[in-house]
Amino acid sequence: MQTNDHDVIIVGAGPTGLMLAAELALAGVDAAIVERKPTQARVGGRAGGLHARTLELLDQRGIVDRFLVEGRTHPRVSFHAALDISDFPTRHNYLLAIPQEKTERLLAAWAGELGVKVYRDRDVEGIASDDSGVQITTTQGVNMRARWLVGCDGGRSRIRKLAGIGFPGWDASTSWIIAEVRMKEKPVLGFHDDASGRHAMSMMEDGATVGVVLAGRDPRATGAPTLDELAAGLKAIYGTDFGVHSPAWLSRFNDATRQADRYRKDRILLAGDAAHIHPPLGGQGLNLGVHDAVNLGWKLAQVVKGVAPVSLLDTYHAERHPAAARVLRNTIAQGLLRRPDDRTPVLGEFVTEMLAMDEPRKRFGAMIAGLDVRYDLGEGHPLLGRRMPDLDIVTADGPARVYSLLHDARPVLLDFGAHRAGDRVKRIDATYDGVCELPVIGPVPLPAAVLIRPDGYVAWAGDGGEPGLHAALQTSFGAGR
Ligand SMILES: Cc1cc2nc3c(=O)[nH]c(=O)nc-3n(C[C@H](O)[C@H](O)[C@H](O)COP(=O)(O)OP(=O)(O)OC[C@H]3O[C@@H](n4cnc5c(N)ncnc54)[C@H](O)[C@@H]3O)c2cc1C
Repeated sequence: MQTNDHDVIIVGAGPTGLMLAAELALAGVDAAIVERKPTQARVGGRAGGLHARTLELLDQRGIVDRFLVEGRTHPRVSFHAALDISDFPTRHNYLLAIPQEKTERLLAAWAGELGVKVYRDRDVEGIASDDSGVQITTTQGVNMRARWLVGCDGGRSRIRKLAGIGFPGWDASTSWIIAEVRMKEKPVLGFHDDASGRHAMSMMEDGATVGVVLAGRDPRATGAPTLDELAAGLKAIYGTDFGVHSPAWLSRFNDATRQADRYRKDRILLAGDAAHIHPPLGGQGLNLGVHDAVNLGWKLAQVVKGVAPVSLLDTYHAERHPAAARVLRNTIAQGLLRRPDDRTPVLGEFVTEMLAMDEPRKRFGAMIAGLDVRYDLGEGHPLLGRRMPDLDIVTADGPARVYSLLHDARPVLLDFGAHRAGDRVKRIDATYDGVCELPVIGPVPLPAAVLIRPDGYVAWAGDGGEPGLHAALQTSFGAGR
């Protein structure tokens, strides 16, 4: 048997890989990242925001302030129409506008503080697995071995292909050109709708570079567009090419929508874009990858450390596959509502009218913000399987926030008076005299005790007796804690 270089190797230092590596390191697991890019340098514009649930997850780890100071908050999220979420019961009742490169830089810094090693300039080209681990080979001729391998290597994931994991879904029906350029003429900033779709121009921070998005391009187009292609597109849409020149970045994306049919094959797992792709409507992709990472991190850590059986990893697929499938479907719906024919806008008007009503606004807003996820952990208290609200509680050490108890990513048994023995998890006796309110659902009764997983979801909520607590502890945290 060969020795392993690391417990876990993560391929890809995008937001998903960085978050996962940090979560594993926090749990005391030796995790390293292998990344093909030589530096963390920006490669172009992608995600522009972090949603409420992602901010809550970062808050659970005590690092959300680093992100808040680098971005700007907006009270609205988007599902076809702008949906105000400022009355939602969360501390982060907004979208944080922050460019992806800043998010990545902050996550990389945090992972670095936790001792995560990132091997850059290594492009994984081959994998071979056996009963004890997985070997990777890179185009630079390096061989590495780990007990577990996680492909966080983006939508074109080589790990997914090498593992033979299927990626069924919908082919592209349209595409967009995205570019950062200079213009001799004054750009027409803002959105511009025509028969080919919704186009956009924005001035970048330097006050000279123009960000351009042109809709309605060829769905079969591949590879980076040329400056000539961009100029021709601008001329066809705006009647002028604005004297476009000096491209800093030219790319394209499309609305292909696909999802891995399994998130684990033996010792190989997938997360983030490697597991699901969809058009960027509603700005959900990066957020979804971070949520995958936080769901997988503590589970994989338990398995690596031998305190939980490998079957715990099956709950990663069982919980995250449906969550992503729902996002895929909402982006398809949003794409259809933007169809540039002369009848679809009529449907759009009715959808906008419906979303102006309170209940639909709350439901769709919570969906886009990632606040409505419920993992199927059986029937019971409304908190079961849902995110634990960040209540202001009082403990023996004084006032505290529930999320501050999760900074070290360990499960917490929060006891509001049931006084049970909790030797396998961190048990906190607490009092709370406010309202326990969930997004969309509204106020729910405060249970006598609640078992919170490291990812902030409720694994068990009880009323003073013990039924189910032992089973929940066993399922999620094995026998060894
Ligand atoms: C135009 C556009 C706008 C978007 N806007 C938003 C938005 O507003 N909000 C939002 O949430 N999402 C948005 N997204 C989606 C978001 O950018 C992605 O969902 C996110 O980057 C996925 O993160 P990831 O870490 O899973 O994958 P990636 O960010 O793709 O990272 C994968 C990493 O793996 C590395 N890699 C790949 N193959 C290998 C290999 N063989 N060996 C070693 N390393 C490898 C890559 O170099 C890369 O660093 C947008 C996307 C686009 C295209």
